[in-house]
Amino acid sequence: MLPAAALGLCRRDRSKVLRIAPACRLRSTNGPSNARARTRRAWSVIALRASGGARLTNVTYRTGAGLEVTVRADTLLLHQGVVPNVNLALAIGCRHVWNEAQLCFVPALDAWGQTSVAAVAIAGDGAGIAGAVAAEQRGRLAALGAAFQLGHIDKVVRDRMAAAHLGALREAQLGRRFLDRLFKPARRFRLPRGETLVCRCEEVTARQVRDAAALERIGPNQLKAYLRCGMGPCQGRLCGLTVTELLADAHGLTPDEVGYYRLRPPVKPITVGELASLPKTAADIAAVERS
Ligand SMILES: Cc1cc2nc3c(=O)[nH]c(=O)nc-3n(C[C@H](O)[C@H](O)[C@H](O)COP(=O)(O)OP(=O)(O)OC[C@H]3O[C@@H](n4cnc5c(N)ncnc54)[C@H](O)[C@@H]3O)c2cc1C
Repeated sequence: MLPAAALGLCRRDRSKVLRIAPACRLRSTNGPSNARARTRRAWSVIALRASGGARLTNVTYRTGAGLEVTVRADTLLLHQGVVPNVNLALAIGCRHVWNEAQLCFVPALDAWGQTSVAAVAIAGDGAGIAGAVAAEQRGRLAALGAAFQLGHIDKVVRDRMAAAHLGALREAQLGRRFLDRLFKPARRFRLPRGETLVCRCEEVTARQVRDAAALERIGPNQLKAYLRCGMGPCQGRLCGLTVTELLADAHGLTPDEVGYYRLRPPVKPITVGELASLPKTAADIAAVERS
């Protein structure tokens, strides 16, 4: 039996409830409320296993009370929680810090979303998960910060215009700490063992990561060289935080001390044609170069 993160779809299962809704039921023509009523629900699931041959055929789950149940299934969707996608920000060298409440890295930002890289601000989910309203308000604050930096408005105007957005942002974040605490993923889901897939792209298991960590004190980037962990098409978006936490656990370090994969463009797979069509004139290159 593997923990829920076993499928390597991501490193987060913030849900204590596993809902298994076979696709055939959801395709019912009786309407969504009927489908919901007929969906089997299992509570307090602490582990699950997907099995089958070329395709998924069964899901087995175990509850905290020790009940083990196998159901036939052709689709398995895991709710893995939400964390910021930091690949772009890391690729351009923005400083990041570990957020212990949300168990993820977030870019280090000032009140205007300004990163450690000049002229780069981040708003929305990329700045940290706080919901849609907060994302919008952060965007407005970042725009005001940019207008100020470009000399379009002075500090007085910026601060006056920002007041309402700062208030709305504060309001949108009320209760956030409670939510983060309530839905904090359990260690058993974050720190898998055995044959649980950590890096799904390169099919690297938790056992391999732990074995490599036992050899010497290594970081996520060294692990790439050992196991190709994080070097597949997703470039660590799915396994990055799991690897950081596994290495932190193995070495007795904090995730901040372990750090994250060093990311380089392209952050998502692109075709050779797209690569070949990238701008090449001196002006194009200067437009994206940082000093
Ligand atoms: C299923 C689901 C349910 C949710 N429910 C709630 C809820 O009930 N309440 C709540 O407060 N929040 C909810 N959220 C979260 C909320 O949607 C986000 O917090 C919010 O949308 C974040 O805004 P954003 O601008 O950062 O990102 P997004 O809204 O994701 O906007 C990013 C935009 O960038 C575009 N984009 C991406 N890549 C590129 C590219 N390379 N070039 C150009 N454009 C690009 C995308 O198409 C998208 O339009 C939910 C999210 C999901 C996924």
